[in-house]
Amino acid sequence: MPDTAGVKVLVYHWVDPDPGGRLREWGLTPEAFEAQMRALAEGGYQVLSLQEVLEVVQGERPPSPKTVALTFDDGYRGHLDHVLPVLERFRFRATFFLVSDRMGGTNTWDARHGDRPRSLMGWNDAAALAARGMELGSHSRTHPFLTNLSESEMENEIRGSKETIEDRLGGPVRFFSYPHGLLDSRCRRLVASSGYAGACSSQFGGNDLGADLFQLRRSQITYYDTAWSFTFKVRTGFSIREWTRTRVAELLPRFVPGPRGVAS
Ligand SMILES: [Zn+2]
Repeated sequence: MPDTAGVKVLVYHWVDPDPGGRLREWGLTPEAFEAQMRALAEGGYQVLSLQEVLEVVQGERPPSPKTVALTFDDGYRGHLDHVLPVLERFRFRATFFLVSDRMGGTNTWDARHGDRPRSLMGWNDAAALAARGMELGSHSRTHPFLTNLSESEMENEIRGSKETIEDRLGGPVRFFSYPHGLLDSRCRRLVASSGYAGACSSQFGGNDLGADLFQLRRSQITYYDTAWSFTFKVRTGFSIREWTRTRVAELLPRFVPGPRGVAS
């Protein structure tokens, strides 16, 4: 399987010795995470910042298939212990998306699933990440289902979180990550008009020249990824299941006769 075109943006949630119960899929053990970062380094991958991904998408930077970007949603406290030291060892940069009104709290939006709450980083932790060269983005104020909100509530989550993080940390917030991966045309428009340079969705795929800056594709890395399935995601931007589904959807019309030629 060769590397396909476009920058692959990987998305992680927590990295923890206890990856969880019902939500285990979204966690990685520190050992698994370190093995994946080593695989990227040994595979000769270049890790880009999201700003550099935008440059590729806008034709300002030559595309290379051996490029990835690393993102972390929700802002878990454990990133300071289990992610930052590994990134620094391999000299990788990453973007961490924060939930601005839950800083220092827990992932209350996941409480309904019954797993133990996970601690989120505080403002000092976020400042420490920024001081080490990591990018901080917004993942809304409260991690709602954005598409269920009124326009003003949506704007408060999208624009308000950017302002809060900028006020608290003193640097620009250039990127947004849609909570639960959910967006519609209103969300996209509000993100674009709130001063963000780009935004990350949870749709699989690579990001090639001309991709939507406010709907960058990402590959979700899960607890169940093996070395092989991780490599597949890095090379194609898809999980094996999504890749198969997409290919079947592309190929099927060629084999199934359409309505063309049917007498009316
Ligand atoms: Zn999230």
